[in-house]
Amino acid sequence: MIISDRMYALGSARSVIRELFEYGNMRAAQVGRQNIYDYSLGNPAVPSPGSVNETIKDILDSQPSIAVHGYTSAQGDAGVRQAIADDLNKRFGTAFGRDDFYMTCGAAASLAICLGALVTPECDEVIAIAPFFPEYGVFAGNAGAKLVVVPADTTAFQIDFKALEAAIGPKTRAVIINSPNNPSGAVYSEETIMKLALLLARKSAETGHAIVLISDEPYREIVYDGLEVPFVTKYYKNTLVCYSYSKSISLPGERIGYVLVPQEVEDHDRVYAAVCGAGRSLGYVCAPSLMQKVVGRVTGQTSDIDEYRKNRDLLYGGLKEIGYECVKPQGAFYLFLKILGDDTEAFCERAKALDLLVVNGTGFGCPGYVRLAYCVDYDMIERSLPVFRKLYDSYK
Ligand code: PLP
Repeated sequence: MIISDRMYALGSARSVIRELFEYGNMRAAQVGRQNIYDYSLGNPAVPSPGSVNETIKDILDSQPSIAVHGYTSAQGDAGVRQAIADDLNKRFGTAFGRDDFYMTCGAAASLAICLGALVTPECDEVIAIAPFFPEYGVFAGNAGAKLVVVPADTTAFQIDFKALEAAIGPKTRAVIINSPNNPSGAVYSEETIMKLALLLARKSAETGHAIVLISDEPYREIVYDGLEVPFVTKYYKNTLVCYSYSKSISLPGERIGYVLVPQEVEDHDRVYAAVCGAGRSLGYVCAPSLMQKVVGRVTGQTSDIDEYRKNRDLLYGGLKEIGYECVKPQGAFYLFLKILGDDTEAFCERAKALDLLVVNGTGFGCPGYVRLAYCVDYDMIERSLPVFRKLYDSYK
C-alpha cells in the first residue's frame, strides 16, 4: 500500500510522554498505584467547575436535540463567539467582536490553523522559543514551515532576546510564544512582552512584511500569587491568539477552543478568511456543537486553581529543601527541574528505576532539564519526596 512517508513516520513514532504514562500504568498493576510517582502527563487533575455539568444538563433539557447537536456555522455559533468576545472585553478592556473568533477543537487545532493560514513558500520560517510544546514541530511541518528554535534563557525562562533577534530573518513568518509555559511554568513578564513587541515591530519594518506573534495560551488563567498575565494583543497588533478550554476548565477530552484574530491585525478580514480557509482545509469546521454552547455560557470561569497552587508549593518547597535546582513555577502545572549529572536520559532512567516518572526536557528543546507535571494528587507528591531524596543522594 502506498502511503505518505511523513504521516507514517508521525503515526508510528513513539510519544515519549505517552509511553511513560503507559509504563506507569503497567508498573501500577505490578506494585500498586501508591508506589508509582507519575509526573508524566499534563492531564488536569482538578475537576471542571460545577457550572460545566449543570450547563450541559440545562442545554440538553431545555433545547431541542436537533438544535443542540446540529452543525453550527463553520466558524462557530455567532452567539457563542459574541459571549467570548464580551467576556474578554470585560476582563481585559479590549474591543473584540464575534467576527474576530474562529471556534476550534482545542489549542492544537488553533495552532495548526494559524500556521496553515500564515505560512507561504516565500515566508516559511516559524520561530519557537525553548522550552516549547513539542507538537509545534508537527504543526509547522504540516504547514510546510521550518521550525527555527531559539535556545532557552535558563536563568528565568523568559526570552533570550539576542538569540531571538539572531534567529529572525527575511523568511520569518511568525513567532510562537506560550505563557504560562509548558514545561517551565514561567509567565512572561510585561517587560518581556513589551521588549518582544518592540523587536517584532522593528524586524517587521526591516523585512518589509509583518511578523506575526502567535500566542498559545491554554494556561492563561492558571497563575499563582495574584500574578497577572499580560494580554498580548494589547502590546503587539499582529497577534493571533490560540486558546483552549482544555486546562482552564479541565475539558481536554472535549476538544474546544478558539483562534482570535483581533481587528488591529494588518489586513484583518483577509487574515480571518485565511484562518477560516485553513480550518476548512484541515477538516476543523464546526467545532463540537454542544461544547461550543457550554463554553459560551461558562467562559471566564476556571477550575479551582488553588489546588494546583498547593501542589506547586509542596513540590517546589520539597525539591528545593532536598537541594534540587529549579525556577519557581508561576503558572500552568509544570515544574522544570535541572538534572543532576550531565546526562538527561540517564537521569530519567535512574528516576524511572525508582518508579519516579519524569519527562526528558530534550523534546522541549531544553536538554539538562526534566518536566514534572504536578496536576496529580497532593498525596502522590507527598509520597514522592522521599524518593526524590533517594535519587538526589544517589548522585552524591
Ligand atoms: N499548547 C500547549 C503549550 C499545551 O501544553 C497543549 C496541551 O498540553 C496544547 C497546546 C494543546 O492543547 P489542546 O488539548 O487544547 O489541543
